Amino acid sequence: TPTIGVLALQGDVAEHQRVLDGLGARSVPVLRAEQLDRVDGLVVPGGESTTMSKLAVRYDLMEPLRKHVRSGLPAYGTCAGMIMLADRILDGTAGQETIGGIDMTVRRNAFGRQTESFEAAVRIDGVAGDPFDAVFIRAPWVESVGPGVAVLGQVPRGERAGRIVAVRQGSLLATSFHPELTGDARIHRLFVDMVKGHA
Ligand code: GLN
Repeated sequence: TPTIGVLALQGDVAEHQRVLDGLGARSVPVLRAEQLDRVDGLVVPGGESTTMSKLAVRYDLMEPLRKHVRSGLPAYGTCAGMIMLADRILDGTAGQETIGGIDMTVRRNAFGRQTESFEAAVRIDGVAGDPFDAVFIRAPWVESVGPGVAVLGQVPRGERAGRIVAVRQGSLLATSFHPELTGDARIHRLFVDMVKGHA
């Protein structure tokens, strides 16, 4: 049974824990650097990335998070968590820091005000079955990716068609949307399999 930490500075921590526990993983909220030594994987939840970033710095977690991610700790970020795992961000607030790890540029609040919240059926590479019912809440998109990053999902149609909303680089996974809110555990299962080394 893998132990999967959920960064618990801010955001929808309990929702991720519920999905992970439902898959038979052992989830633990992470608030201190030492806890990172005892987890097999880390989820960075949705919430507000500027707040999460400030709190990570204030609680002396930013450098330990960077160190663990750099040395291979598998991580999955949703929405604000995707922003946290991006090497570069656009439209961040002044001085906003990220953990980084994924060679991509992410645009914060990219989907804009009118469509602050919307749903789309997004096909995810490596996730069998129906497209994912993706819920976007003041979501970022991925503006560009480096050569080592696999694009797993894009908005299928409409004004935002083609926008990248799911990526993977090695043991790091990120989605613009919130699978923890829609009762479909397939992406979390993919992540748990990545943690176990089976995906
Ligand atoms: N807009 C938020 C941010 O910049 C992300 C929103 C979310 O996580 N639902 O962090």
